[in-house]
Amino acid sequence: MNVNDTEVIFSILAKEGYERTESMDEADIILANTCSVRDNAEQRIWGRIEVFNLQKKERPGVIIGIVGCMAERLKDKLLDTHKVDLVAGPDSYRTLPKLLKGITPDTPAINVMLSHEETYGDITPVRIDKNGVSAFISIMRGCNNVCSYCVVPYTRGAERSRDPKTIVREACDVFSKGYKEVTLLGQNVDSYNWKSEDGSESVNFAQLLEMVAQVSPELRVRFSTSHPKDISDEVIETMARYENICKHIHLPIQSGSDAMLKKMRRSYDREWYMGRVNKIRSVMPDCGITTDVIVGFCGETEEDFQMTMDAFRTVCYDSAFMFYYSERPGTLASRKYPDDIDIETKTRRLNEIIALQNECSRKSNEKEIGKTFKVLVEGPSKKDPDQLCGRASNNKMCVFPGGGHKTGDYALVKVRECTSATLICDLVQ
Ligand code: SAH
Ligand code: SF4
Repeated sequence: MNVNDTEVIFSILAKEGYERTESMDEADIILANTCSVRDNAEQRIWGRIEVFNLQKKERPGVIIGIVGCMAERLKDKLLDTHKVDLVAGPDSYRTLPKLLKGITPDTPAINVMLSHEETYGDITPVRIDKNGVSAFISIMRGCNNVCSYCVVPYTRGAERSRDPKTIVREACDVFSKGYKEVTLLGQNVDSYNWKSEDGSESVNFAQLLEMVAQVSPELRVRFSTSHPKDISDEVIETMARYENICKHIHLPIQSGSDAMLKKMRRSYDREWYMGRVNKIRSVMPDCGITTDVIVGFCGETEEDFQMTMDAFRTVCYDSAFMFYYSERPGTLASRKYPDDIDIETKTRRLNEIIALQNECSRKSNEKEIGKTFKVLVEGPSKKDPDQLCGRASNNKMCVFPGGGHKTGDYALVKVRECTSATLICDLVQ
């Protein structure tokens, strides 16, 4: 999401004549687009600000700006304590040119106003990916849920859905430029719900998916993130109907314990979650399912944690993003529940679930041996540049011999062997 926001920022600044450089030593303006979701993301930025300030020492006049969620969360604290020149929240990017023009060594600039309308719908992002194959498209901003651990609703504001016409236009535009895959982005794509101003038209996520899938059968469609409480049968059935809608759902469970889920305010219980997994698998048996999980949330007992481990065994995810709880100031959990699981226990639980997931990933990959997949070639494999890599529809990474294929082609491959992270394949002629 931040990569895509950065692309929007480049587009806004390019219109004003600013040019992008890949080298910090050349930059007159250094902007860091930041994430506040866990403390370690913020800690990394503090380190970066020190590095930026070294540039400023060498080249007085360089402007240093913090944009994104940390700007929104810390506001003028950043100006007071860290000598940055610019602080701009996620809804303020249209004002960046004006803010930048007003900056002098003694006058920093700040805009952290959140909006109920801003979707940057009319802005064509300047793509910063290197391979020209896969593009992100934001379909909504903000979040209306109140998961008790999460800072996102505070930093990104209320949920708003972008006009579907602008989304389809953007998908057509990237396809005409040679892209073969779009990923539709939102904190909770299943609650996408656009309404025309007079209320006469509305489009939900399943309908939007269909509209984007119809851009071209050669354009793959992915999306993230699905919310277990909101993912509808209509979405699942729409996925099944279109070959070019990739068969992969990222469905964060967060915890396998009902007591924790309730405290997290996720609005579903374990049984509901498993019901959604079963529905997905009954309609699309080959659908990849991945997840996010938080261990060591406030008051998590060993039994709660074991229930999460058990949920992982039950679903056997293809892969997972795993975190230990990081208290975020201002959230409901930080106000209501003590962050009472010590760091050793958090780390141990995290390591245990990572080890379990590694086993599950391997098992899930072993099941693919002998199967044939259509992959979209992303480029040379990182480990072996003589091989190509690309993802299957279910999001698994495949590595295979080039055989004349180039980046952006579709290739048919057959899985020969695997690691827990990669399918090692042969080309099918
Ligand atoms: N909107 C998405 C995820 C947004 S944040 C959703 O609802 O699933 C991405 C992931 O970061 C979350 O799924 C969660 O697992 C993790 N996360 C969010 N807040 C966290 C916190 N305070 N501590 C640790 N992990 C957190
Ligand atoms: Fe955060 Fe929950 Fe919204 Fe995801 S759905 S962004 S976890 S509040």
